[in-house]
Amino acid sequence: MADKADKAEELSTFLVSYPLYRRLTFEGIPVRWPDMLQLRCEHCGAERTFDGEEDKGLAYMNVRTPTGPLRAGGTDSLPTLVYLKYVCHVCALDSRSYFLAISYGSKVLRKVGQVPPWSLAVPPALDKLLGPDKTYYRRALTCMSQSYGLGACAYFRRVIENTMDDVLDRLKAVLEQEGGGEGAIKRLEEVQKSKNAVEKARLAAEVCPPSLRPGGFNAFVILHDELSRGIHTLDEEQCMETASSMKTCLEYLIRRMAERQQEGTEFQAAAKQIMDRRSKRKAGKKGREA
Ligand SMILES: [Zn+2]
Repeated sequence: MADKADKAEELSTFLVSYPLYRRLTFEGIPVRWPDMLQLRCEHCGAERTFDGEEDKGLAYMNVRTPTGPLRAGGTDSLPTLVYLKYVCHVCALDSRSYFLAISYGSKVLRKVGQVPPWSLAVPPALDKLLGPDKTYYRRALTCMSQSYGLGACAYFRRVIENTMDDVLDRLKAVLEQEGGGEGAIKRLEEVQKSKNAVEKARLAAEVCPPSLRPGGFNAFVILHDELSRGIHTLDEEQCMETASSMKTCLEYLIRRMAERQQEGTEFQAAAKQIMDRRSKRKAGKKGREA
């Protein structure tokens, strides 16, 4: 059962986040596509469930070639094409369409078309942090969109190396806010004096608070492992995996750290108001008693 759930999860991730032409190898023909996907609806302006269109979307397309219809069971050079469409459950005004090529011989699945296209936008939380490195980040995304893993990897590594000190500053702010991190903060300040991004990521992984570890997963550990891997030994596909992990972890950490700081600041302001009201009440009581 767990295996089935893993496969469904893998197919959802493939549809939602893989760029065009990035290969997903699979065992057995996927006969069931995800019934729904979690995506951002541009009309609702929020994360929504998108339902697969039953009649048209989830069926194999009867694609015709000059010599007749393609048989299910396409070869590498003559893949079977599948068209999937998902529509926002709430407003039905936003949708995602995917064209997939399935090569049964090599057991490879690829997206060959997507509407709207795979986004090259830099997430807002990252925008401020990146500064002059935004150009490298955009280039990394451009390489990813074409499945040029080697290029994407090199650009992401450069971005992470250049922004690691700012990432650690934000981590220190979260630790300060959550209290009890004095020793960790001192160690982070020490490591910031060096130029070694791998060492910085290793220490960040060590002191990363539970509030930044969803389900016990530590994004700094993944970042550290990916930075330590020598990319010259990896092929394009392995580099795509590495680039994809770095992108996911960096985006998650920056977004989550900003949220934690925001939550902390809001709570501190509310708590201060409560305490002020309390001390005013106390002062009033004392005044009346006197
Ligand atoms: Zn919607």
